[in-house]
Amino acid sequence: MPTRTTDSVSYSTCTGWCERPTDFAPALGGEVQCDVAVVGGGLAGMASALRLAERGADVVLLEAGYCGWGASSRNAGYLSNALAGDPQLLRLLYRSQLRDLTRYAENSARFTERLIERLGIDCEYDPTGNVNAAVSTGQLKQLRKSMRILRDAGADVEFVDGRDFGLPETFLGGVFERGGGLLNPGKLAFGFRDTLLASGAKVFERTAVRAVEPEDTGVVLDVPGGRVHAERVVLATNAHSRDLAIAPGGITPVWTSVVETEPVDPDRLAAIGWTSRTGIITPHTILENYRRTARGTILFGTRQLQAAPRTLGAREPDRAVVEDLVRGFHERFPSLRYVAPQRAWGGWVAVTSFLPVAGEVAKNVFYAVSCNGHGLAQSPYLGTLLADRLAGDELHEDLRTVWRPRPPHLPSSALSTPILRAAWATDRISDRFSQRR
Ligand SMILES: Cc1cc2nc3c(=O)[nH]c(=O)nc-3n(C[C@H](O)[C@H](O)[C@H](O)COP(=O)(O)OP(=O)(O)OC[C@H]3O[C@@H](n4cnc5c(N)ncnc54)[C@H](O)[C@@H]3O)c2cc1C
Repeated sequence: MPTRTTDSVSYSTCTGWCERPTDFAPALGGEVQCDVAVVGGGLAGMASALRLAERGADVVLLEAGYCGWGASSRNAGYLSNALAGDPQLLRLLYRSQLRDLTRYAENSARFTERLIERLGIDCEYDPTGNVNAAVSTGQLKQLRKSMRILRDAGADVEFVDGRDFGLPETFLGGVFERGGGLLNPGKLAFGFRDTLLASGAKVFERTAVRAVEPEDTGVVLDVPGGRVHAERVVLATNAHSRDLAIAPGGITPVWTSVVETEPVDPDRLAAIGWTSRTGIITPHTILENYRRTARGTILFGTRQLQAAPRTLGAREPDRAVVEDLVRGFHERFPSLRYVAPQRAWGGWVAVTSFLPVAGEVAKNVFYAVSCNGHGLAQSPYLGTLLADRLAGDELHEDLRTVWRPRPPHLPSSALSTPILRAAWATDRISDRFSQRR
C-alpha cells in the first residue's frame, strides 16, 4: 500500500479532540467585588475556582477565551504520575527534593483520577499507566538507570520487556509507570467547564485580564470592560503568564504539536505486536509520544518544540513540523505507512526548570504552574491545593514541596530556536547511529 503523505491533514487552531463550546459565559462588564479572582480557565484555574466555590468563597473566574481553550483541552491525554524531565537530570538538579516531588506527582495522578470520578466527567479515562519505552539499546540502558533513580525516590515503576508488554515491535521495553493512564482531554476540559458553570463560581469568558494591581486592602484586576476588586488573586495562566507583568519570571512558553491518524484496524496493530493500550513515551531529548485513542486512531506528538514569538495568539501547527512528526511515525511504525494522518493541532506549554511551582508572587497574588508538558494530572491538583490554602487550610505538604516565591528557571537561551533545533538534531543523529539490539 502507498505511503501516506500529509496532504490529507486538516490543521486546527484549537483542540482536535472534540467540538469546542459555542455557548460562552458573558464577558465581564463594569465593577465586580469578590473574595478571590482566578485568572485563567484551564484545568488549574477551573479546579481552583470550583474548590473555592465548594468551600463557600465568593469566587470569580476570568478567562481570555473560553474555559478549556488552552493546553488543557489540547494535550495528548497522558495522565501521568511522573515529573517532567529526565530522572538523571532531576537527580542532579534536585537531589534532596526528589522524594517529595515524586510523592507530589503520584498524588497528583491519584487526585485527578478521583476528581474525574467524583464529578462524573465522561472523558474515556482508561487507567492503563504509561510506559517510557526505548527504541535503541542505548536508550534501554539509559532507562534502566532512570528506573533505579525513580525507585529510590519512591516511584511505583517496573522495568518491562517490549514483547511481553505488548508494545509495538520498534519499542524494546522500558519503565512502566503503574499510576495514571490515558484520556480524552477535550472531553475532560469541557466537562469540567460544564461543572464549573453550574457551580456557585461566577465565570466570565472572553475576558482577558490586562493588569493585576495589588493595593493595601486587596487587588484590582483590569479587563477591557471593567474592573474586579478581589481580596486575593490566583494566577493560573500557564504559558501565557509571560504576558502579565505581575506574574513571576522564568515561565517560558514553547509550542508543541500533535497529529492524529485515521482509525486503524486493531488486527493491524496486533500484527506489529501492539496489543497494550498503555501510552508510550520515548526518552529522547525532546520526547516522542504514541498512543491509541478510544476512537481507534493513533495520536502522536512533540519531537520538536518551537520557541515563542512576542505574542501567543491562536495558531496552527507548522506544516514542516507535522511532516517531521509523520516521518517519525513512519520510522517507528514502518508497516503503518499506509495509515493517513488526519488532523493536527498544538498548544502552548509553560516551561520552568522542570519543576511544578506555586507561590505568592506579590501581596495577596498567588500563582500555580504545573506544566513542562506534564500538567494534565498536576494542574487540577495544584489548583485545588492552592484553593484549600486560600480557604484557610495549613500549607499541604505537597504544596510546600513546590512552593517558591519565584520559579527556578532555565537560562532563556536554553529555549531559543537554535538550541531547540540542536536538541532535535541530536535526537535524529542518535536515531541514525544507535543500535536497535
Ligand atoms: C499539545 C500538548 C500536549 C500535551 N500533552 C500532555 C500530556 O499528554 N500529559 C500532560 O500531563 N500534559 C500535557 N500537556 C500539558 C498540559 O496540557 C498542561 O500542563 C495543562 O493543561 C496546563 O493547565 P493550565 O490550567 O495550567 O493551563 P491552560 O490549560 O493553558 O490554561 C490557561 C488558561 O489561562 C487563560 N489566560 C491566560 N492569560 C490570561 C489572561 N491574562 N486573562 C484571562 N485568561 C488568561 C488562557 O486563555 C488559558 O485558557 C500538553 C500540552 C500541549 C499543548
